[in-house]
Amino acid sequence: MMRTLINNDFSNRRALIRVDFNVPLDENLKVTDSTRILAAKESIEYILSNGGSCVLISHLGRPKGKDPALSLSHIVYKVSEVLGLNISFCDDCIGSNAEAAASALKPGEVLLMENLRYYSEETAGDTNFALALSKLGDFYVNDAFGTAHRAHSSTTIIAQFFNEEKYFGKLLEREFKAVQKIMKTGDKPVLAILGGAKVSSKITIIENILEKIDHLIIGGGMVYTFVKALGGNIGQSICEDNYTDFALELIEKAKLKNVKIHLPIDVIIADSFSNNANKKICKASEIPDNWQGLDAGPETLNAFEKVVMNSKTILWNGPLGVFEFEKFSIGTIVLGKIIGKSTSAGAFSLVGGGDSVAAVKQFSLESKMSYISTGGGAMLECLEGKTLPGIEALLN
Ligand code: AMP
Repeated sequence: MMRTLINNDFSNRRALIRVDFNVPLDENLKVTDSTRILAAKESIEYILSNGGSCVLISHLGRPKGKDPALSLSHIVYKVSEVLGLNISFCDDCIGSNAEAAASALKPGEVLLMENLRYYSEETAGDTNFALALSKLGDFYVNDAFGTAHRAHSSTTIIAQFFNEEKYFGKLLEREFKAVQKIMKTGDKPVLAILGGAKVSSKITIIENILEKIDHLIIGGGMVYTFVKALGGNIGQSICEDNYTDFALELIEKAKLKNVKIHLPIDVIIADSFSNNANKKICKASEIPDNWQGLDAGPETLNAFEKVVMNSKTILWNGPLGVFEFEKFSIGTIVLGKIIGKSTSAGAFSLVGGGDSVAAVKQFSLESKMSYISTGGGAMLECLEGKTLPGIEALLN
């Protein structure tokens, strides 16, 4: 059963919230990107405005022992700034001092505990450590989507100590529902756009989503393994020769399942892997020997536009080209804009689990998408069809 925060009265009750405050710090130990803190704000504010208080637990980096450089005390100022209230800090996350600090909290107050990973028991999924953590709150909220694929003490094992009193945080709920739209509940036609460098890293995703979708656009470096498998000339383009059989099998499987695969018609080729390379347009299957495909061509983008505009549910994972080079970023930018257009026309779009999230941010397309996942590895595992242990523990 999915228990969400909505419609609960938290008067005089203390939430123990697993957040993902694993934020980047600069050499002066200042937070350089507070996206993850912002992502947890909604759950915290919801609980505070419904009469509760919040104990926040998180990891920061991968400390070996109690490394002071990875103390969560460094981010207290930023959490206070984002929440617009002064939060307090406890220099431990279990034990009598931690429990005393937690039980002293009054409604409306927030306490941040020290780095969970100062204890190796956390990543080991130790049950006693989870039990010790569970003493900090009256109810448990998991809002750390980025670590929901790990069976750690604070993300998974702890849930057993809260019976019915365990909830999806707002962020976790949004991520979960976004994946469900692609996998189960979204309107048809459902389209998946898979790009990025390698077929091998996407096999499990492809096999899983083939069961759920109507159209599959293949882009990026993955294209050339397919083109070669089909007998085309790919020149120096990136290719995984030991996956050509998989590519052919996939094409057959897709036919049987009535999934239409769309491969590029033309591509932008380069005479070296560089932003200074010479470039020209070429048929995807007729790349000259010393050239390589680094982006989608105009005819391809026109064809992809029709598919994207006709889709009601869209997953985008992986760029259409080497977008890090400005010269070969056009395909990814244009595709992002087209998905944005389809989204304004009513489609649901999820960007997640790969470099497409970085591309969407780099090209300021965030506001055009329905949902951009905050969890790289966790989102990839969802797309692979795995039930994340952190989510499963809340559902039980
Ligand atoms: P992924 O993490 O799987 O989404 O892969 C992203 C990477 O794929 C990016 O760094 C892109 O530069 C790379 N990529 C996309 N298209 C190509 C291509 N045609 N040749 C080589 N690398 C590519």
